[in-house]
Amino acid sequence: MNTWIHIPQNSDFSIHNLPYGMFMRDNIPRPGVAIGDSIIDLHACCKLGLFAELGFDTSVFESTVLNEFIDCGKDVWSRLREYLTVQLSSEGALYEFREKAIITRLNAQMCMPVKIGDYTDFYSSIEHATNLGKLFRPDSEPLLPNWRHIPVGYHGRASSIVISGTPITRPSGQSKAPTADAPSFGKSKRLDIELEMAYIIGKSTQLGKPISIENAEDHIFGKVIFNDWSARDIQAWEYVPLGPFLGKNFGSTISPWIVTMEALEPFRCESIKQEPAVLPYLQFTGNKNFDINLEVAIAPEGGEETVISESNFKYMYWNMAQQLAHHTVNGCNINVGDLMASGTISGRDQNSYGSMIEISQGGKEPMQLKNGETRTFLEDGDTVTIRAFCEKDGKRVGFGECVGTITP
Ligand code: MN
Repeated sequence: MNTWIHIPQNSDFSIHNLPYGMFMRDNIPRPGVAIGDSIIDLHACCKLGLFAELGFDTSVFESTVLNEFIDCGKDVWSRLREYLTVQLSSEGALYEFREKAIITRLNAQMCMPVKIGDYTDFYSSIEHATNLGKLFRPDSEPLLPNWRHIPVGYHGRASSIVISGTPITRPSGQSKAPTADAPSFGKSKRLDIELEMAYIIGKSTQLGKPISIENAEDHIFGKVIFNDWSARDIQAWEYVPLGPFLGKNFGSTISPWIVTMEALEPFRCESIKQEPAVLPYLQFTGNKNFDINLEVAIAPEGGEETVISESNFKYMYWNMAQQLAHHTVNGCNINVGDLMASGTISGRDQNSYGSMIEISQGGKEPMQLKNGETRTFLEDGDTVTIRAFCEKDGKRVGFGECVGTITP
């Protein structure tokens, strides 16, 4: 598809993508759509009268988050996408007003795209759950008996989810080495990443009304990259019996651009066969997994980055529709702007694992960085960058980057 806007080759933000984000303009967060190295300023477009025919209340773009726009519903998201696609591939009103409505993306400061109400983290990669089971419970079966029957998850903390680029402070807490007699307090020595993706809820439900698996994807607006920073030493000591707490809630980072489900549609793929068969409310038809390439890189302070893992979202054992059907089967309600994370996405071999604790085999096998240093867990000053993109038939739809630097 041809467009009058310049799009560098291999750009994540091709005309097939059109992801939504919030960026700063004149010190106010404004809604935008990324295209190549540019941003279409949706607020400016409204002021210029560009969306007048689209049949929705354009005052939603006065907001400093996308929740109100998302709440307009799937038909509105589609109409705007269609409108922008046409405007970008022909010289119409957007072309005419391009100097006011389009700004450069490369030095734009991005902010949180949505106000996240509730956040849930799943545990849906069978490779990751197996690897972590072996490391945390070496004397028993790595997968607990419920794992192949339930998309296991926990309720996380929305307040500490931050936008890409926000520094992450190394957390302090209690931990207890296996050989120690008593716990001690101090800075985490086993600070890790979790390579995840997350989806943003696009349609709310009422308490008491479960979502059927057939309708589940209608409730998803789009996806972002998610780094669920984890303090393994704090986690190991605290997690029995109620699960993750301070080892997780000190920070998680999201990428700034929400890639819509419509843009991801061409990248559907088959799922892994689930055995034993799941209960009827979790049974699905059609392709519910997505082929999204994932990459994690670490750069030491002042040094060049080393890619430490390459994985893919298609490895998920439990898909998003199953997660949502399960999450709401008891009547739990969800709201526009809620965030549901996948859990760490690990592939089958050591260079596709989604966390350092897996790659280093619990801290025993250091990984080599290009500058000669090694890592088992993160050091202060390390910058972690996660990238994600889909590619098929010459179409590229990417997520950009999810970045965070560790500070003492
Ligand atoms: Mn996680």
